[in-house]
Amino acid sequence: MKLVPGLQDSYNNGMFQAVRGTRDIFSPLVEEYVRLEAIARRLAAQWGFGEIRIPTFEEAGLFKRGVGETTDIVEKEMYVFEDRGERQLALRPEGTASVVRSYVENNMHQKEKNCRLFYVANMFRAERPQAGRYREFEQVGFEVFGDPGPLADAEIITLAWEIFKSFGLSDLRLSLNSIGCPECRGPYREKLETVLAQMISQLCEDCQNRHQKNPLRCLDCKKCSEKVRAQAPAFQLCAACQAHARIVEDLLGACGLTFVNDPSLVRGLDYYTRTVFEISSPVLGSQSAVCGGGRYDGLVELLGGPATPATGFALGVDRVVEARFKEKPPASPPLKEQAAFLVFVKAGPKAVEYGFGLAQRLRQKGVSVFCSSATDSIKSQMRQAGKSGAKYALMIGDDEFSKKQVLLKNLQDSSQATLSPEEVMTRLASPC
Ligand code: AMP
Repeated sequence: MKLVPGLQDSYNNGMFQAVRGTRDIFSPLVEEYVRLEAIARRLAAQWGFGEIRIPTFEEAGLFKRGVGETTDIVEKEMYVFEDRGERQLALRPEGTASVVRSYVENNMHQKEKNCRLFYVANMFRAERPQAGRYREFEQVGFEVFGDPGPLADAEIITLAWEIFKSFGLSDLRLSLNSIGCPECRGPYREKLETVLAQMISQLCEDCQNRHQKNPLRCLDCKKCSEKVRAQAPAFQLCAACQAHARIVEDLLGACGLTFVNDPSLVRGLDYYTRTVFEISSPVLGSQSAVCGGGRYDGLVELLGGPATPATGFALGVDRVVEARFKEKPPASPPLKEQAAFLVFVKAGPKAVEYGFGLAQRLRQKGVSVFCSSATDSIKSQMRQAGKSGAKYALMIGDDEFSKKQVLLKNLQDSSQATLSPEEVMTRLASPC
């Protein structure tokens, strides 16, 4: 096959490999992804959120403006490409900017005072891959628009917590902070900038470049955060931000949530105001954050909409599933009580058709019927039946076809009975 001119083919010895930082996900992990997504959807409905599907790629400028030019995501991690119309596009590295773009584009503020949206979507970041850090990963995110109050912040934090609890995670840490509003952050930025200027030679290249443009980011830098935090001035919230933070804490307390106040928590994205939070799982090692979020009152306006308060979070599905496996590996899959495996025993074409038709009717009644190839040996078919978890084997051959019967074998206790197709339907389609 000829590739698009200029494209390199990494086809190597007749075989391809998944791209670095991406992976295939198999059972039993897949079932846990599906279970977590189902829990998120169920709780989203209970909390009044509607689902939104966002595009996989957007104009790169959306993330540049929305996430922030001086963030690691935009500076180093975005998959940016030019399409055939020479537009600069980016694979989405996070969901909030897209949801806000959609909120503004579709005039949602005019339709709903308090708009609540959630998404389930894969994200793409060219980070250095390691355990728990992938270049393609899944997030479930929730956003609340139009509510400036602390109750909305407390609500999204309790929602995140409930999702983890319902999924079965027990060992979690909730860290909370307020990074204030532009009014109280302004003077703090100036003070921090002065301190950073004094220690400039000790800072990494990134922090040297951003210490004026976005000094707060140096508090969050993987390389410099420790030394910067040791010398950083204490952050003073204004009275309104203090009151907001206190109410969030009281509301979380009212729901029985325990948290630690972490003044060093500033989060990596530029758009946060006031409440920021992170939930981590100690079983995960270095990449322990399973969820992060907070309030972003300035973002809707920054992306061309009317001034609209907003708050939200995103949880990392891959890490949550990994934490669940580490905390409590799932037991081996339960026996599929109502399932049957179709085994052909000396079956000619007519007997195969007979068995095939019966399998189809059973499936239409909601019974799971698995089968292998009719050309496999009986021994191989029985081995596959045992592995499938099915409780029964439906044994069909020329003999059964001519008598319009089925030999139903219980794979658990090896008992067997010769039944008519109707009797099999009744036995398997009704729960025992
Ligand atoms: P963020 O959008 O950076 O606040 O991330 C929210 C959550 O997504 C984090 O708490 C992680 O659980 C997850 N996450 C972020 N980056 C990655 C990654 N590269 N691989 C896997 N999960 C990630």
